[in-house]
Amino acid sequence: MYDVIIIGAGVSGCAAARELSRYQYSTLVLDKCSDVAEGTSKANSGIVHAGFDNEPGSLMAKMNVRGNAMMEQLSKELDFPFIRNGSLVLCFDADDEYKLEDLKKRGEANGVPGLRILSGDQVREMEPNISDKVTAALYAPTGGIVCPFNLTIALAENAADNGVEFRLGTEVTDIKKKDGFYQVVAGGEEYSARVVINAAGVYADKFHNMVSEDKMTIIPRKGEYCLMDSTVGDFVHSTVFQLPTAYGKGVLVTPTVHGNLLTGPTATDIDDKEGVNTTAEGMNELLKKAELSTPNLPRREIITSFSGLRAHRPEHDFVIEEVDGAPGFVDVAGMESPGLSSAPAVGQYVAEIVQGILPAEEKTDFIGTRKGIPQMRYASFDERKKQIEKDPAYGNVICRCCTVTEGEIVNAIHRTLGATTVDGIKRRTGAGMGRCQSGFCNPRVVEILARELGVDEEQITKKGPGSQFLEGYDKEGIRA
Ligand SMILES: Cc1cc2nc3c(=O)[nH]c(=O)nc-3n(C[C@H](O)[C@H](O)[C@H](O)COP(=O)(O)OP(=O)(O)OC[C@H]3O[C@@H](n4cnc5c(N)ncnc54)[C@H](O)[C@@H]3O)c2cc1C
Repeated sequence: MYDVIIIGAGVSGCAAARELSRYQYSTLVLDKCSDVAEGTSKANSGIVHAGFDNEPGSLMAKMNVRGNAMMEQLSKELDFPFIRNGSLVLCFDADDEYKLEDLKKRGEANGVPGLRILSGDQVREMEPNISDKVTAALYAPTGGIVCPFNLTIALAENAADNGVEFRLGTEVTDIKKKDGFYQVVAGGEEYSARVVINAAGVYADKFHNMVSEDKMTIIPRKGEYCLMDSTVGDFVHSTVFQLPTAYGKGVLVTPTVHGNLLTGPTATDIDDKEGVNTTAEGMNELLKKAELSTPNLPRREIITSFSGLRAHRPEHDFVIEEVDGAPGFVDVAGMESPGLSSAPAVGQYVAEIVQGILPAEEKTDFIGTRKGIPQMRYASFDERKKQIEKDPAYGNVICRCCTVTEGEIVNAIHRTLGATTVDGIKRRTGAGMGRCQSGFCNPRVVEILARELGVDEEQITKKGPGSQFLEGYDKEGIRA
C-alpha cells in the first residue's frame, strides 16, 4: 500500500513527485514508457511563457505566471538549462494593433510584469531578421526558454533521490475504487494507494472516466516542428510569436537552450493519441507561417522534424483537483500549453491538494538540489582538463556534432534513473542531437550502453521494446 501513486512520468507527474517527496509519503510513479519524459513533455516548444495569453482567473493563467516566476530558482537548484530571453508577439497590420493592447491588458490582469508595446522599427532594431511588414509587437521580458526533457529528468531524479519509486515500462490498464483506497493494475501487477494522481497526458480522460460519472474528453492536438542547426541558433534572440488564433499561440521562431533554432508548431486535432508522425503538409504550412515573421528563415539548416500532442480539452483550462465522487483521485488533466511553464507551480499545487486529503509531516532530510551531468562542450579549457584528469573518458568524444564524451554517456547510464536506451542518452547528454542526427555516434552509443548495462548490443533499443537497432530479435528482445 503506497500513500500516493502517480500515473505518468511527464513534467506534470515528475513535478508533483518532487514536491510530494518533501513530505513523509511513500510515492510510486508508473509510466508505460521506458523512460521519463517520453510523452508530450519531450516534444514541445520549450517556451516558459510569460503568461499574457491565458484567460484571467483561469487555472492556466495562475499556474503559468507562478511557474514562470519559479523557473529560474528551480533551474539553479536542479541544474537544468533555462534562459530568460524575452518574447515578442508580432502584429502585421496597424488595424490589428488593438489586439496587442488587449493582450497587454490581459497579461497585466494575470500579473505579468514588464509588458511593453514596441514599434516595428524598435522590434527590428532588437531582432534584425524580423519582417519589414511588422508594424508593432508586444514585448514580454519574463518570457524564457527551457529544455523540456532536462527539466523533467531533473525533477524525476531529485524525486527519486528523495525516495520516490519509479516503475517505468509499466502500463496502467485498470483502476478499481476500493474502500478508502484505489487498486491500480499496471504491467500485470496490482498496486494500492490511498491517493492516485492522474497525470497521464493525452490519456488522462481514460483514467478520469474509470472513476467518475462526469466524463472528460481530451483531444490530441498535433503540433509539428522543424529544428535547425546550431549554426543558426542566433538567427533570433527572443521567442518570436504572431498574434494568437483560435487554435492557440500560432507558429513561433525561437532559439533553444541548446543553441538551435526551432520553428513550429502547427495545430491539428487528430484521433490517434499516438499520432506523432510529421507530414509534408505540416512542414510546408509551418515554414510558410514562420516566414511571415522572419522571411529569411534558414531552411537549408533544417536538421530534423518532430511533432507532439497537446492534451486539449474543449473547455481549454487545466483540471487540477480531487474528482467529485472519487475521494483521493486527483486529476492533473488538460495539460496543454502552458503546461511546461506551469510545471513548478503545478507540482506545488498538487502537493497542497494531497496534503488536504492525507496530511503528512515535512521531511527533515529533503535533498533540495541535484547536479546535472558535466557537459564538456560548454566547459572551459581548465574545467575540461580537470575533468579528464579525474576520468579520462571525458576526453573521448563520441558525438562529434555536439562534442559529447564517453564520460558523459557513462554518467547518464549510472546516475539516478539512468538512461537505458539510445533516446535516454540523447536527452540526458545531447549525443545524436546535432547535424548528423546520430549517423556517426549511434553505433558507439549502442556499444557503450551494452557494455555498461551488461547486455548484448542486440538488446539495446531506441526507446524500449520493439525499437531494437540490430536485427534478429523480436519485440521482447528474444532472438527470433
Ligand atoms: C506542440 C506543443 C507545443 C507546446 N509548447 C509548450 C511551450 O512552449 N510551453 C509550455 O509551457 N507548454 C507547451 N506545451 C505543453 C506541454 O508540453 C505540456 O503541457 C506538458 O508537457 C504536459 O506534461 P504532462 O506530464 O501532463 O503530460 P505527458 O508529458 O504527456 O506525460 C504523460 C505521461 O503519461 C504516461 N502514460 C499515458 N498513459 C499511460 C498508461 N496507461 N500507463 C502508464 N503511463 C501512461 C505517458 O507515457 C507519459 O509519459 C506544448 C505542447 C505541445 C504538444
